[in-house]
Amino acid sequence: MSSTVVNVGGTKLGDGNFQIIAGPCAIESKNQICNIAKKIKSCGATILRGGAFKARTSPYTFQGIGAPAIKYLLEAKNLTGLPVVTEIVDIAHLDLFEYVDMIQVGARNMQNFELLKALSQTKKTILLKRGIGCTLDELLMSAEYLLDGGNENVILCERGIRTFENSTRATLDISAVPILKQRTSLPVIVDPSHASGDASLVIPMSLAAVAAGADGIMVEVHDHPSEALCDGLQALDIEQFETLVNKIKKIKPFAYDYKY
Ligand code: PEP
Ligand code: MN
Repeated sequence: MSSTVVNVGGTKLGDGNFQIIAGPCAIESKNQICNIAKKIKSCGATILRGGAFKARTSPYTFQGIGAPAIKYLLEAKNLTGLPVVTEIVDIAHLDLFEYVDMIQVGARNMQNFELLKALSQTKKTILLKRGIGCTLDELLMSAEYLLDGGNENVILCERGIRTFENSTRATLDISAVPILKQRTSLPVIVDPSHASGDASLVIPMSLAAVAAGADGIMVEVHDHPSEALCDGLQALDIEQFETLVNKIKKIKPFAYDYKY
């Protein structure tokens, strides 16, 4: 199926190029996000990520710094020219996302149908992440809420599912890439960071995503992973990220080709 090309602040997903979305799990300060943004851009990242509102499993862990974090993210965008993506957890926050290039619906909200319906009424590009216990059909039905409501700017993200395997935080379902490509024309990306929970697994799993013909990856990167307030164990440092980008460039010519 030919691919729908989706625009993220001037960067295109689904046109056959491979996009690298990178940045910290959570925005911790203006300096932190601006510093990381500059470094990942010079390594070859094409879109900046960073969480402002964090949907955490435990109420006792860092919840993100909220609205001010979106301001810092936009400062990092102005500084580097990188388009930005950040997660929405409540439609009441929508006004804060006016200058955000892509709004993420996280795994925990994939079936928050009222949120999807509200986002379908916007023209904002939506990054829809697969729920941890959701099938690909369910992911596609959630995408349908956005499309049917009138928003065609949708990108799907495989981010690992819960299985009996406990060596990893989740199990990356790499077959999601060709299956989604068969069933929809929407761009498909892979998040190897939340799928693995372990920085040492992120490079090989990212390369698997490239080989399977994904349109991009979203990977967590921190300048000091051991000091990260959220998901430090799965964050690549800058040097590892640079290695990853170089390896992606080498194998991209051999990636499975869905005939764009
Ligand atoms: C994230 O990308 O910041 C995140 C929380 O991921 P997920 O919703 O896939 O758990
Ligand atoms: Mn995270």
